[in-house]
This record gives sequence, C-alpha cells and structure tokens, in this order.
Amino acid sequence: MNKHKIVIIGSGFSGICIGIKLKKAGIHDFIILEKASKLGGTWRENSYPGAECDIPSALYSYSFEPNPEWKHVWSKREQIFQYQLDVANKYNLMPHFRFEQTVKSAEWKGKQWLIQTQSGTHEAQHFISAIGQLHELSTPQFKGSDKFNGHQFHAAKWDHSVDLSDKRVSVIGAAASAVQLIPEVAKIAKHLTVFQRTPNWMMEKPNRSYTRFERWLSATVPFFNKLYRGLLYLLADGVLYPALKGNKVAAWFVKFKVKRNLNKHIKDPVLKSKLTPDYAIGAKRILFSHTFYNALSRSNVDLQTEPISGIDANSIHTETGQCIETDVIVYATGFITNPFFKSIEVKGESQTLAQAWKNGAQAYLGMHTNGFPNLHMMYGPNTNLGHNSIIIMIEAQANYICKIIRQLDKQGQSSVDVKHEAECAYNAEVQDRLNRMVFSAIETSWYMDNGKITNNWAGSTWEYRRRLDASHSSAYNFSHD
Ligand code: NAP
Repeated sequence: MNKHKIVIIGSGFSGICIGIKLKKAGIHDFIILEKASKLGGTWRENSYPGAECDIPSALYSYSFEPNPEWKHVWSKREQIFQYQLDVANKYNLMPHFRFEQTVKSAEWKGKQWLIQTQSGTHEAQHFISAIGQLHELSTPQFKGSDKFNGHQFHAAKWDHSVDLSDKRVSVIGAAASAVQLIPEVAKIAKHLTVFQRTPNWMMEKPNRSYTRFERWLSATVPFFNKLYRGLLYLLADGVLYPALKGNKVAAWFVKFKVKRNLNKHIKDPVLKSKLTPDYAIGAKRILFSHTFYNALSRSNVDLQTEPISGIDANSIHTETGQCIETDVIVYATGFITNPFFKSIEVKGESQTLAQAWKNGAQAYLGMHTNGFPNLHMMYGPNTNLGHNSIIIMIEAQANYICKIIRQLDKQGQSSVDVKHEAECAYNAEVQDRLNRMVFSAIETSWYMDNGKITNNWAGSTWEYRRRLDASHSSAYNFSHD
C-alpha cells in the first residue's frame, strides 16, 4: 500500500494547478495519478486537425504564468499542450506524476481514502479530483454502424493513421469540436458531408499571429500582459455573462454580433436558415470560429440536416431516404457529462456518489459533498462556464482547497466534511438562479442531467472568486482522528 497525504487524479489544467499551489503552500507529500502516459488532460486527448482554444490564450492560461511566447491570439492545441508541460517542469511537478494509473474506485475508510488503480491501492488523507467534465466520449450507436466498412472514430480519439485526402468524409455533429475540425478536413477531403442536428449561434474569432512587436512588448512589459488579460476578462465577465443572465442590452449586443457574423458569411438563404438556431443565445455553448461558415460554402462540402436513420457498409442513411456514400465517419458528438465520476466508484461514509447524486450532481461551492470527508473536487458540479476561461475557476478552487487543508493542519484536525444544510442551501440558491438563466431555455444540453443544470455555474467568475476568498468555516464540520 502506498501512503501519501494527498492523492490527486487527473493531470490537466486542474491537476497541474493544484500541484503547484500545494507546493507553494509547502505541502509536498502528494501524487497525481494519470490514466494516460503523458500529462495534459483535454489538450493531450484532443489532437483533431484544427484543434485550438476558443478563449484567447492571454486569458486561457494561469494568472501566475503569463506566456509571452503565445504565437496566436487563440492558441493552437500544440502550443497549449507544450505550455502545460513547460509549467509542470518549471515547478518540478514531474516527480509527483504516476502515469498509466487508471483509478477504478475510491473509498473513505477509517479516516483515510483508499484509492484503487489497476496496479494497487493508494492510501491518502485527502483525495482531490481533477478529472474535468469532458473526458467520457459520447459516440451514438446508429443502427448498423457496426457494419460500416470504412474507418470511424471519435474526434477526441483522432485516428492519425487515416489519410483523408481524396476520401468521402462524413462528420456527425456541428458544435465546438466540429467547427474547428471541419474547415481543416474540407481542405483535403474529396467530399465532406456535415450532419448537423441542431444549429449553433456563432461569434467571429478573428484569429491571427501576434506581431514581433506585440511579443516583444509582452516579454518586456509585464504590465502590458496584465492589462490585456484584464480587458479580455472584463469583456467576458462584463458583457457575455450579463447576456447569459438575461441583461437586455448585453443580450442584444451578443445577438447583433452572432447575426452579423452569419449574414456576413452565408448568403444562400436556404443554407442560412439551416444554420439559424431557434433557441436563445447561450442556452447551448456559443461557438467561436473564423473559418466554419466559409468551409460550408466550399463546393466539396454539404450540410445535411435530415436526421440519421442508420449506417450500412458504405453509407449513412437519413430518415427522409437519402443515402450518403462515405469512406470515413468522424463522430464530433461530444462527451457524456452526467453522471460525474461515471467510470470511478467513489464511496463515502455511507453511500456512493452515484447514490448521493441520484437526482443530479451537486456540491457546496462545486467542491464538497456531505458524507464524503476530505474529497475535494475541482471543476466539479456547477462550476463550468459558458462565458469565460475555466482556468479562472480552477485557480480559485486550488487556492481554496490549499486553504482548507492548511487550516486543518494548523488546528491539528484530520478531516473536514461540509454540512448537509449548507450544501442544500447553496444548491437551492444556485439552482434558483440557473433556472432564471438562459441555460434553462432549452430542454436538454450537456449542461443538464434530466432537466437539472448540473454542470454550469450561475454567476460571474468575479463572484465565484470573491465567494471562495471569504471564510466558510461555519459550513463545515472539522474532526480529529
Ligand atoms: P458537444 O458540444 O456536445 O456537441 C456534440 C455535437 O454532436 C452536437 O452538434 C450534437 O448535436 C451532435 N450530436 C450528438 N449526438 C448526436 C446524434 N446522436 N446524432 C446527431 N448529432 C449528434 O461536443 P463538442 O463539440 O465536443 O464540445 C463539447 C464541449 O467541449 C464544448 O461545449 C466546450 O465546452 C468544449 N470544447 C472547447 C473547445 C475550445 O476551443 N476550448 C473546443 C472543443 C470543445 P445537438 O446539438 O443536437 O445535441
């Protein structure tokens, strides 16, 4: 049995961040279990062509590690992945990683967590989940898809051995991942059919390389970085968030931007109507692309909006009887986001998380659930954003978790459990607010579990950070061995 003060699972932005913050707090007895052979989370997994961030890198990076080397305003996946590696190396995190360790279960037993991987058990006082919300692939099983003769794979498990040039390719899905890969596939495929079930609202993303002067400025005048990040932050929290909350002026502005983007790029009225959503902006994630609409206007690209009825050896069939011959199928169909911890059984004092969350996941401040002492969740229930960089939330959570662990140590106590009443009151408030936001304007999205919005935060990142800065001692029970 391996014994550590803290066991963390996941080595993406959350896992790296909490590792750094623990070291800064003088806590070094921790390991980070990672199922893959490299760190990086979503940026390791998603290597599809065109993968890049839809949040500008000056904001989609740690506040304590600005990177003057960003090549583009919105960075390519490769540079973000390298940034994660560089930061982990800078803070000497590598000795803490245990790669190729898939966590199967975790159980709170006798004041310790017992965390089971395929190769053994780890005992720890604290268990920190940094597994993210978007890692369980969702691949719909269409009738006959197992009979398909060509290659078929999920966008997040891109098969780089398949040469798409001169092939007839079908992409199923038309959301955040799809709009990045479709323009790249369109450049090389003989023919591309995009199967869109629901259209999405889309903002322009005028990506470009930074000039040498801008990079020089960024490297030599740190204040410039702070100012630029601050402006991006204000735009996201000050304009996009109010639009999601229902502020009429902000919502009008966002609607004006998305409609102007559509009108500017799509002239064909039939195509335009297929691409125009009938739901409120922000109910599903607003997309950002500077290339998707133009790709759809290419002569080798078709947008198919008829529902898929099945797949045979060579073709995809629609419910209206169309048959689209295809050599390769790419499933850009997203992720299973509920239940949380789908592949890991987590058992607390008396029940599993699956039992505790049978009506949908919830946690105090998105981090703590009653009956699961010393389980700290990062990017947990109701902490996803539709308007700003998730790294802001992750940093706030890492600071909070370090604060609570240090508080326990200072007081000579061993465990902390959120009070049931505090958790319920917090969640009643969050659900009440979410139900008045745009996320509730549709019946289903990856933000929901059976109609309950389990994934998204209800406020601005500013509010979340302020709340986490405050003292919450009265919301917890602390105990000795
Ligand atoms: P997603 O948003 O869940 O989109 C899945 C797409 O597949 C949707 O168009 C969906 O249609 C379609 N689909 C799913 N099941 C289908 C079925 N049975 N038949 C036909 N179509 C089906 O997944 P995603 O695009 O991978 O993005 C997920 C999240 O990852 C994003 O919201 C974002 O948070 C994150 N992401 C971020 C970036 C970034 O740049 N930072 C890039 C990619 C992804 P419906 O809309 O009708 O369900």
